[in-house]
Amino acid sequence: MKTLLFLLIFSVSLFSKVEIHLSHTNVKHGTTFAVIFQNDTNMSQAPNVIFKHKTYQMFTINGSIKKYRVFIPIDYYNKLQHENVQVSYRIKDNIIKKKFEITVVDGNYKQNEIIEVSKGKVTLSSENKVRSAKEYNQVYKDVYSKITPYDLAKKSLFQAPMRSKITSDYGNARVYNGKTKSYHSGTDYRAKVGTEIYATNNGIVALVMKRFYLGNVVYIDHGRGAFSYYSHMSDFSVKQGQKVKKGDVIGLSGKTGRITGPHLHYALRLYNVTVDPLQYSSLYNEIVRKYK
Ligand SMILES: [Zn+2]
Repeated sequence: MKTLLFLLIFSVSLFSKVEIHLSHTNVKHGTTFAVIFQNDTNMSQAPNVIFKHKTYQMFTINGSIKKYRVFIPIDYYNKLQHENVQVSYRIKDNIIKKKFEITVVDGNYKQNEIIEVSKGKVTLSSENKVRSAKEYNQVYKDVYSKITPYDLAKKSLFQAPMRSKITSDYGNARVYNGKTKSYHSGTDYRAKVGTEIYATNNGIVALVMKRFYLGNVVYIDHGRGAFSYYSHMSDFSVKQGQKVKKGDVIGLSGKTGRITGPHLHYALRLYNVTVDPLQYSSLYNEIVRKYK
């Protein structure tokens, strides 16, 4: 009986041509990798990926139930080490688990980016601590905890939020008034107050808010756990819940929040992890072009 069962599992997996592909095997901390799943017959349910004890449901590519993808973020503070990636899927009544491994490698980000700001915005007063915590709770509720299961970007490629020069890249370690406090969690664009900011892709405005550090900020939901956001704005031209198309003006750049001078801070959260927004965009675009 055991032999028979074994043969059955073997033949089922033999006759269904499953191909699983990882976009990278060496992944920089603070970036994203993709897992692609393809079968030659329809799947009865979506496969999933387990990475660092978290389950990521895979999503169909263009509505096909033979092809699936998922983008997985690596936290900036992830140790530089091997990590397991487990893909599991159902063929008839069998759950099949395939193991892969990636290596988290050094992003070689710039160290010691020195920033001078007013003291009250580095060491928070108790009043500002309360404000900061309240803000976080609201953003968590409306943005970070949400996963819209549809591709709100609708197969459209990501573009830049502004036609301007990049002045600071994602990942730079930041020293505020002589103390290492954090890393740069987005990409900065040179922008004088009043410069138009564009939605980098199609989506829905998840939240419009005035924040202590980020100043006036717009969060756009692109679906499947991806949110882009735009900070330090002087003016908003969108409302919460509004649909936006790639390239729509969502507001104007400014100098609100914790900031040394006017600029646009553009960032991206994927499953509640802040990743390099430009690396995510180019990977997303590459996968959309390659798998149709
Ligand atoms: Zn920034």
